Amino acid sequence: MRSSRSLLAACALLLCSSAGAGAQVPAPQLDPAITAALAKISAAELRATDERLVAFGTRSTFSEGAGAKRGVFAARAYLLERFRAVARRSGGRMTVALDSYTQAADPKKRIPRDVVISSVVATLKGDDPTGRTYVMSSHYDSRNSNNDDGVHDAPGADDNGSATAAVVEAARVLAGVPLHATVIFACFDSEEQGLFGSAHFAKTLKDAHVDVQGDLNNDIVGASVGDDGVKRDDIVRIFSEALPPGTDPARVNVIGGENDSPSRELARFAKETGDAYPTGLHGMLVYRADRFLRGGDHESFNAEGFAAIRYVEPVENFNHQHQDVRVENGVQYGDLLQYVDFDYLAKVTRYNVASLATLALAPASPKVSVLTKALTNDTALTWNVVPRAVRYEILRRSTTDPTWTSVEDVGNVNATVLHFSKDNWLFGIRSVDAEGHLSVAAYPAPVRT
Ligand SMILES: [Zn+2]
Repeated sequence: MRSSRSLLAACALLLCSSAGAGAQVPAPQLDPAITAALAKISAAELRATDERLVAFGTRSTFSEGAGAKRGVFAARAYLLERFRAVARRSGGRMTVALDSYTQAADPKKRIPRDVVISSVVATLKGDDPTGRTYVMSSHYDSRNSNNDDGVHDAPGADDNGSATAAVVEAARVLAGVPLHATVIFACFDSEEQGLFGSAHFAKTLKDAHVDVQGDLNNDIVGASVGDDGVKRDDIVRIFSEALPPGTDPARVNVIGGENDSPSRELARFAKETGDAYPTGLHGMLVYRADRFLRGGDHESFNAEGFAAIRYVEPVENFNHQHQDVRVENGVQYGDLLQYVDFDYLAKVTRYNVASLATLALAPASPKVSVLTKALTNDTALTWNVVPRAVRYEILRRSTTDPTWTSVEDVGNVNATVLHFSKDNWLFGIRSVDAEGHLSVAAYPAPVRT
C-alpha cells in the first residue's frame, strides 16, 4: 500500500498525465427506489400526453384566444389538470401554479403585439430546510414556419410535445417518492419567440432567492431517426455552457476551470448517473451551451447564474421543426406525431428521472477551497460540513481529460492534502450520504489566505 502510494506521488511529481494513474471511477450505487420509479415510466402514457397536446392544433403563444379546444391556453388548461391530478397523489407535497405576465409588443424581439405569456409549474416540496431546488423543464408552446402565426396548425409533436410529456411523466412517477430537495416541473410558454416564459420564471426564482442548484432542460427529445435516416435510439445529447456570466476570462486563463463550470459538473453528473441506471441510453456530452443557430430554456437559467443543461435527441431532422405541415417535392414537412419514437422518449424520461431523483435525494455539493498561499507540489483542500453527508470523495483528472478518471474516498473529513500537484491536475469534491447517493462534484475555488 505504502509503495503504491509513493509510486503515485512520484508519478505526480514527474508530471505524469496518464489517466491510468488512479483507479477508474466506478459506476454509482443504484437506489432501488429510483429504479422502481424508472420502471413506472410508460411509453403509452407519453404517447397519450403528446397526442393530446398535438390535438390542440397549435400551441403558438399567439393562439391564446383560440378558445377551450384549440391553442396554447387550451393546452395550458390541460397541463394544469394533469399536474393537479398528480398533485392529488403527492400527499400534499405538490402545488401547481401558473407563472404569467403580459409581454409588451416588441417587433425586434419577435413579439408583434402585447401577449400574455403563461407557463405551467408544479412544485414538489422536499424536506430539506434549506429549500435546495432542482428544475426539470420543457416548453409547451409550438410554432410553424411563421413565428407569429397563432392561427394555422403547429403540431409541435417533437418540439416540444415530447419533452412536455416527459416532464408530466416524471412528475407522475416521482410524486410518491419522498425527496429531500424540492423539485420543480416546468412547462414554459413562448420559448419559440426567445425564451420568454423561462426567462421570466428563472428571474422570479432568482429574485425570490430560491437556491436553484440545477435545471435539467429537455427540448426535442422524441425522435430517434435523424435526417440521415439512421435510427439511434441509445444516445441522448447533453449540452452545457462553459462559463457562467460574470466570469473573468483573464482569471480563467491563469488558473483554468474553463471546463468545470457548475453546468459542466452537472452535465458530467447527468451522464454518470443516467448511464448507470437501466435507462437504455448513453449520454453524449457536448461542451457548448447549445447547437448553432438554436437556443433553449436552460440558457434562461444560465443567464441568472444557475447551473443548467439541455437534453436533445442525437440527430435532428430540421424538416420536422418550425415548418408548416405540407408535402413539397415529395418531402413531408412538419412536426408530426409519426416521427416521435415513444420508446425512445421513455428512455430519455428515465434518463432524466435517474438524475433528478438522485439530485433530490443526495446531500448538497460541498463548497470547496484549494489553498494557494504557498508554492507547493501538494493540493490542500478544505470544505464545509454538508448536512447528511457521511463521507466525501475526491475526483481527479488530468487537465487534458474531459471527464473524471479517478476517485478517492477520504472519509468523513473536511480537509485533506493530496500528493498530486494542483498545478497539473483538476479536482472535484462530492458528498456521499449513508445510502450512497452522490452529489454533483464541486470545483474548488482558489483561496490565498
Ligand atoms: Zn423547442
